[in-house]
Amino acid sequence: MMGDPVGRQDRLFYEFDLEDMVPDDHLLRRIDRVLDVSWLRDEMKPHYSHLGCPSVCPELMIRMLLVGYCYSIRSERRLCEEVKMNLAYRWFCGLGLEGKVPHHSTFSVNRHGRFHDSDILRKVFEEVVCGCMKAGLVGGEGFAVDASVIEANASRFQRVKGSEVEWTEEQLVRRPVREYLSALESDNPPTNPKQKPKAMSPTDPTAAWTARGRNKIMFGYSLNYLMDMEDAVIVDVEATPTRISKEVDATETMIERTEDRFGLKPDRLAGDVAYGTGKMLGWLANRNITPHIPVWDQSRVAAEGKFVRADFEYHKECDLYVCPGGKELKTSGTVHDGTTIKYIAKRSDCSGCPLKPNCTSGRERRVSRDTNQEVRDDAQALMETDAYYQSGVDRKQIERLFGEAKNILSMVRLRLRGLSGAKEEFLLTATVQNLKRLANHSTRPPPEPMAA
Ligand code: SF4
Repeated sequence: MMGDPVGRQDRLFYEFDLEDMVPDDHLLRRIDRVLDVSWLRDEMKPHYSHLGCPSVCPELMIRMLLVGYCYSIRSERRLCEEVKMNLAYRWFCGLGLEGKVPHHSTFSVNRHGRFHDSDILRKVFEEVVCGCMKAGLVGGEGFAVDASVIEANASRFQRVKGSEVEWTEEQLVRRPVREYLSALESDNPPTNPKQKPKAMSPTDPTAAWTARGRNKIMFGYSLNYLMDMEDAVIVDVEATPTRISKEVDATETMIERTEDRFGLKPDRLAGDVAYGTGKMLGWLANRNITPHIPVWDQSRVAAEGKFVRADFEYHKECDLYVCPGGKELKTSGTVHDGTTIKYIAKRSDCSGCPLKPNCTSGRERRVSRDTNQEVRDDAQALMETDAYYQSGVDRKQIERLFGEAKNILSMVRLRLRGLSGAKEEFLLTATVQNLKRLANHSTRPPPEPMAA
């Protein structure tokens, strides 16, 4: 039998409850069960005036932003339209059927004002990490670190060569430019003082000109994650310009902050070869953190078929090398480039040496040694262990997190500019990823008891 035509009003009154419209297994309902932002109002109270018209509730704005990052709606204008029309979004934000959706401009006003001053997005992220810890998702023993490049909201066709820009009055009033210029004066400038950038974006000067993007050379920021390897929970997130030195610095910041905020200090840290610098390995050794990081063996790097460093024997007690000809190479102790010490043979020893053609084409042989060579050697020895192999397997989960951020949450190109914009977007993305993990965990049935 053919059904009745649709669109015909057959009832005058409807009984309608928004609560019934959101299925029990809907993602937002599952997230709502594990999300507690009731503390937000008290936290934000000092940032609101006692006078004037009532402002939009901060809990509503944070919930809307979480909806947006959950469903790849990062445009605030579009987010407001979607929340207006979508029943599940309305329910999650506590708006009911008739609640007024804030104007999209409210978000940018708060972002540069109250949200920035109170660092509220980081507090929300940390609260979710605490939820993961309470749910037993964070082991706290093994962390992994990695970075992924996200394209900045800056055209690669509108760039200037080098880093010297004649800023116009109009450019100087823009927030990303002001942020960049004040960061240049700080202890942690966004550029590498030893290597001037090849190009700069006048619209987002902090973004780094990089070829590490997937398809093209572009301006980018690095999304740095510190992940607990037990259940792939992101315990910290940091935004940096896409420069390896900045990513390594961010690792130190994240490990220190995780210990400070959550009392978590890992026994081991897994990372890729970019993190295997002598400086980083020395820093980890000082904190008793075992590096499960591949270390490039420079001692076997041959130069024009000559003896390599591994052919020279190091004597720790006298701090010198002995060459294959049995002569000593000594150092003055001067540290070059902050990391390298040079050991030099006597010119008189080399001049009459029969091995000289296999050793050096100069007047005397020099051997370079990293100031953290011992920890490099220790880290290299660890590369043969089962624990190192296991960390290599567990570390792969961080790639899945980047894949989820890019392919499912559409974090491919930033919408906001400046380092603060990148930080905000990365914090929200990581918060949503942790919330999804926590929500899935809470709905997972408990494991079956083992048969006796
Ligand atoms: S050339 Fe100098 S450093 Fe090399 S083996 Fe001969 S004495 Fe030793």
